Amino acid sequence: MAAPVSRTRLICPLTSADAGAMRRDMVAAAERGADTVECRLDYLDPPADREQLQRLLQNPPAEIIATNRPVREGGRFRGDEKQRLNLLHEAARCGPGWVDVERWALGEDAWDAPVILSHHDFEKCAGDVEAVAASLDGSPAAVNKIAFAAAGPEDALRAFDILRASRKPTIALAMGEAGVMSRILAAKFCAFGTFAALAPGTESAPGQPTLDELKNLYRWEHIGPATSVYGVIGCPVAHSMSPAIHNAAFAAAGLDAVYVPLLIQPGAENFNRFMDALLARPWMDWRGLSVTIPHKENALAYVGAECCEPLARAIGAVNTITIGPDGDLQGHNTDYAAAVDALTGAMDISREELSGRPVALLGAGGAARAIVAALRHYHAEVTIYNRTFARGQRLAAEFGARAEPLDAAKDLDAEIVINCTPIGMHPNVDVSPLERIPPCAKVVFDTIYNPIETRLLRLAADAGARTVSGLEMFTNQAVAQFEIWTDRPAPREVMRQVVIDRLRAARA
Ligand code: NAP
Repeated sequence: MAAPVSRTRLICPLTSADAGAMRRDMVAAAERGADTVECRLDYLDPPADREQLQRLLQNPPAEIIATNRPVREGGRFRGDEKQRLNLLHEAARCGPGWVDVERWALGEDAWDAPVILSHHDFEKCAGDVEAVAASLDGSPAAVNKIAFAAAGPEDALRAFDILRASRKPTIALAMGEAGVMSRILAAKFCAFGTFAALAPGTESAPGQPTLDELKNLYRWEHIGPATSVYGVIGCPVAHSMSPAIHNAAFAAAGLDAVYVPLLIQPGAENFNRFMDALLARPWMDWRGLSVTIPHKENALAYVGAECCEPLARAIGAVNTITIGPDGDLQGHNTDYAAAVDALTGAMDISREELSGRPVALLGAGGAARAIVAALRHYHAEVTIYNRTFARGQRLAAEFGARAEPLDAAKDLDAEIVINCTPIGMHPNVDVSPLERIPPCAKVVFDTIYNPIETRLLRLAADAGARTVSGLEMFTNQAVAQFEIWTDRPAPREVMRQVVIDRLRAARA
């Protein structure tokens, strides 16, 4: 493990082009909880003179790292190498806490501030990245910094390998969205620091979260060596509500746990590569995974049907994986019960009372599949209406339902109507899969949760039907995941409210 640091620094890079604005940002960063600011001198345009440097760097409100990165290492300094190093020496003489010097530029120079020796690769996580890190570790510099582009979250695991192997205080980061957990979990591996931007658009490298996200969404102050880790695998995953809902639940339950997004490109080979890498590192303390599009079938195949609950096998999809202390895996599908309970809760009936009730279900994709399996399990009479008729027919044949083309839904004859298509989902909120709700429809369930009240649900309410929002299903599936992972009751209302708050904030 890297040489212990008293506390992993939250470092805010300052990327303004104006020295006065950079100084103001420095004050704002300190006020928002940054321990350290990185003055990116290479962003100043034109380059700072001695007087500006002094005004910028003296009597700072937070510890300072001075950096003057050249273009060839992802920075913006366009002058020659001598000018670049002269400016950095000038900055070092102003007494910052640290000066960042690139590995190839260390040379024989003596610096007037302790050195962070850095190496960046914006293209890839090279095969010899551990050897590069070891060479930094063997240098006379005080701190090592290595940052490389991540192709998948398994590259973030290599950043943790480096932190664990280093003898000196070290920063090791996997850049890009796929590597974001290397930034969130830096304190778990006693890194020297992690970088967080002052605001969206001021990042100095791809994948950097904001100070606000790290502190409030990922509970930065609570992450330490003993923290258990959970995450959501998906593609795309950036706008998933799952990190917000689960981190809020962990906070409310007082658990030492954090939940991170994991961007994994489509394809079983990508899913498998990450899972193999994760399970090879039991020290990650990884306890659970949510799985979303397009990896639910890959999750079932990886976990193995024999280690999945029968319902997950019937649906052919796993959305929840538990990882035991010995690395043993179990697969569940919480979408199924989430949908049934949202429906029966609104109807005030038991699951068994679904038996014999006519259901019109629009769509035949992943969500429809879980819900059809559940409804047929409880003997509801299901008719599937789908745009691609053959797909609807296949799903119907598998679970003993009927199939009709989507156009036929305008003449549906059912007590329960369920929308499992994205028609009406944000941003296309003015459309509905049905323009008229027939009098026979007593309950209308829209699986969409953004917006919470879709046009379909407004039409249904106007027609006197009971309505069920996708918010209930989404909350239920997360509640079930929490309970499977932690074996304790989930703080349901906290979780539900987080979704509502985030949807509102996104609209504001
Ligand atoms: P999916 O696997 O991609 O399936 C989408 C289904 O919708 C397919 O049947 C597709 O028909 C149909 N469809 C898509 N666009 C259409 C259009 N413009 N007109 C008519 N039909 C269309 O997606 P999914 O995972 O099942 O998700 C479907 C919906 O469920 C999403 O809106 C999502 O918000 C919701 N959902 C909610 C939750 C929750 O927890 N509340 C969880 C999962 C999903 P074809 O077969 O013809 O392509």
